Amino acid sequence: MSLEAQLRAQIVARCRELDARGLNRGASGNVSARVGEVMLITPSAVPYAELAPGMIAAMPLADADGAWAGPLAPSSEWRFHRDLLRARPDIGAVVHTHAAFSTILAIARKPIPAIHYMIAAFGGMEIPCCDYACYGTPELSAAILRALGGMNGCLMANHGMLTVGPDLPRATWLAFELEALAHQYWHVLQIGGGHVLSEAEIATVAKGFASYGVKATD
Ligand code: 13P
Ligand code: ZN
Repeated sequence: MSLEAQLRAQIVARCRELDARGLNRGASGNVSARVGEVMLITPSAVPYAELAPGMIAAMPLADADGAWAGPLAPSSEWRFHRDLLRARPDIGAVVHTHAAFSTILAIARKPIPAIHYMIAAFGGMEIPCCDYACYGTPELSAAILRALGGMNGCLMANHGMLTVGPDLPRATWLAFELEALAHQYWHVLQIGGGHVLSEAEIATVAKGFASYGVKATD
């Protein structure tokens, strides 16, 4: 199977997982992945349950006008997916969801501070919230790029959240982790707030993450 065919199948599988675990519903959210100079992206308005690998649209990253190939038009959010892939060579995949707790905080325009050490997986001290702009617009794309900077996730005001990673498994895992942080923070706000970890504490975790993983004996 070609890399492109593998990625098409992976995008469908990840969309189904996001749906099954409650991060997206119906056609909300979208997922993309880089293959060479091309972006593969979910089609617009297709419920995940009906999605098939052949429906994923292909868009040349260099094209300014959003040219696409496929049986169905790409996600209405192709601009921010394309702009993220263009701006950051370290990004191989982008996941966007309307997950409940992330969206609640995005409606309240509350960035998530370092209330849990897992924030270190996002590359900074706080999950930012980008300014509001209508879905699908260049303004939304610009707001996302501005807020995200070099981090791996952000909230989107009055809309939802997105995560980025070197590949689809990582970007999807970060989406679940971001929703978990949002869930925790939402509850912490109900009890009047919590303790925020220091930059030194998060830096220590980030160092540990660099070598974290299953370790087997030789
Ligand atoms: P699409 O169905 O066009 O991908 O739009 C869903 C969405 O989440 C818009 O922000
Ligand atoms: Zn959306």
